[in-house]
Amino acid sequence: MPCGKLNRGIRLRLSRVSRRNAWGWLLSIAVVAKCLLIPIAAAQTATGAVEARPSVVPAIQILHTEHGTNSPQAMKAHYVVLVSLDGFRWDYAKKYGALHLLALGKQGVWAPDGMYPSYPSLTFPNHYAIATGLYPEHNGLVANSFLDPRREAEGKPDKYSIGDAQAVTDGSWYSGTPLWSLAEKQGMRSACLFWPGSEAEIAGERPSEYLKFDDKVDESARIAQVVAWLKEPESSRPHLITLYYSDVDHAGHEFGPDAPETRAAVLKVDALVGKLRMALKATRLPVDLVVVSDHGMVKIEGPWITLDTFADLTGFETAGSLLYGKNEEDRARVYNKLNHASEKFEVYRRKDVPAGLHYNENEREGDPVIVATGPYAIRAHGPAAGKPDSVPVGQHGFDPARMPEMKASFFAMGPDILAGKTVAPFENVNLYPWIAHMLGLDAARSDGSLNILAGTLRDNGEGAGASKE
Ligand SMILES: [Zn+2]
Ligand SMILES: [Zn+2]
Repeated sequence: MPCGKLNRGIRLRLSRVSRRNAWGWLLSIAVVAKCLLIPIAAAQTATGAVEARPSVVPAIQILHTEHGTNSPQAMKAHYVVLVSLDGFRWDYAKKYGALHLLALGKQGVWAPDGMYPSYPSLTFPNHYAIATGLYPEHNGLVANSFLDPRREAEGKPDKYSIGDAQAVTDGSWYSGTPLWSLAEKQGMRSACLFWPGSEAEIAGERPSEYLKFDDKVDESARIAQVVAWLKEPESSRPHLITLYYSDVDHAGHEFGPDAPETRAAVLKVDALVGKLRMALKATRLPVDLVVVSDHGMVKIEGPWITLDTFADLTGFETAGSLLYGKNEEDRARVYNKLNHASEKFEVYRRKDVPAGLHYNENEREGDPVIVATGPYAIRAHGPAAGKPDSVPVGQHGFDPARMPEMKASFFAMGPDILAGKTVAPFENVNLYPWIAHMLGLDAARSDGSLNILAGTLRDNGEGAGASKE
């Protein structure tokens, strides 16, 4: 089955018939398809074409998009390696003694009280908020799974889910200009070793090098690949590189934030960060290392809260706890039924969702909108008869202002970053202009501001970019 017509008419084909993308692991979905990408056409190197290439690192299959060489200006720029440790709660480093991360923060900058994820504090919305500087309702990914009533009316595929390879690789779901597209547009090569959105063509661009998500790719091999990229000739060497590890999120969901298994996962990824730092140092390149997480984790209280036990959802389409009423009468009826139905959630007509959540102006958010008031697992419907109905031990997605457990982590050091700085909690959309500045790129418009983190930079965020000579 073709997984989609990709850039400039080159078709890639999934080796097995499946629409489920490996990101579905993050939903704890049992079946994960192993999808290898095989180009049908002979390798093409025309600008913009996607070509599968074996990597110097065994077991890694790189997808290459030819953009030509770095511009002379880009060649002079510094490098940013942006690492995501999924679900690494703001307090884990101290709580579990993640010495490599703490040392990184001490020699650079860190947020001892955490960084605010955007609402909802879910994986795809937040990775893509970090990449674009846009709140989920502006970047398009309002949840890990959602519907789009407008696309439905236009006869386009109207369901997005992180487990759906077709949707994940379809750039029409994504808004904004992610960092890798920004770099490519400005003559700078980029490479993504996993990042939500990196497998789609967005804002007319793809990363020069990227991988199809496969969480089974060996953790140390991922570092070897980053190093391999940094060892490329100056002309093709990517200046922006992303890297991703999911271990801490998996452990947090399965065992909870306080479990020894989660501690072990924290120490495991911390050791990987230590290894990465050593490897980056050995390249002798001016690399700014930025380590973040997308959100935190909290222990769930009580059983599932199932919305259709409070209100008849006939006529509604749903995705998780998102509710899509077909007409105003239905929306008003369900809002009235759910209003004050439980202390464990609040219900709003979408236009009335509190402004601080930035969750009131995108149809993909549904209407009415449910917001949990505590660590409660909420869904529209229960599972089909005979299907398991267990509540995850740990979960995230909640309002970070209401629940500090949702706060994420932030550590960074490098030639553009002052040593020994700490920053008060800040919203993750502010990373975008900050990273663009370190790379000497003109950032696209975003919800973030360089002012927030400018004080962490050697050039105080002034001038055309710290990395320009
Ligand atoms: Zn996550
Ligand atoms: Zn998670």
